[in-house]
Amino acid sequence: MIVAIDGPAGAGKSTVARAVAGRLGFTYLDSGAMYRAVALAALRAGAPPEEVAPRVRIALGERVLLDGEDVTAAIRAAEVSDLASVVAARPRVRAALVDEQRRLMADGDWVAEGRDIGTVVAPDAECKVFLTASPEARARRRAAQLGVDPAIVLAEQVIRDERDAGRAASPLRAAPDAVTVETTQLGFDAVVDRIVALAQSRR
Ligand code: C5P
Repeated sequence: MIVAIDGPAGAGKSTVARAVAGRLGFTYLDSGAMYRAVALAALRAGAPPEEVAPRVRIALGERVLLDGEDVTAAIRAAEVSDLASVVAARPRVRAALVDEQRRLMADGDWVAEGRDIGTVVAPDAECKVFLTASPEARARRRAAQLGVDPAIVLAEQVIRDERDAGRAASPLRAAPDAVTVETTQLGFDAVVDRIVALAQSRR
């Protein structure tokens, strides 16, 4: 079974998806980490991301490994976040990573999180959630996580949101059959409970 959780930056997808996966006993897939790893690899190599994407080895789990090196922290740097949404707009980068995501999820039970899981990667997913919150709430949460100024996070987030929603290749949008969960006023546990209940009702 696949539970697809898509939505904009800072909606809480990672923490929520991880918790939902834990509760259901499913494996968690952070597709954003793959775009981030390609961005980091391209930055380091000074090479086009289209060339880098098919040849890097990305391993996801407790830690994110790029060609065997632990890049869990490095891929969260502001510069890499920004570049990730640029490389994610390139169709050839998306094609390489979508193939890899489909290959990973061909067997077993997954909670996969990203922007296009329910629309492109796994359009047949049994359970699709579009997780969202107001831009201010999303920026506030992310700023608290990173210990930085919410105003700066909000400004960067607006740029990233526009890039993700405005691109031609797999723009961020809710799948027609996704259930939208608005988390601005909803506590973390309530969000997780709701998605777990939804997934159980679809099994
Ligand atoms: O989710 P996260 O913020 O880590 O993703 C980093 C960037 O990767 C996003 O801003 C988005 O541009 C891109 N992304 C994507 N499709 C996905 C996951 C992430 O385009 N499925």
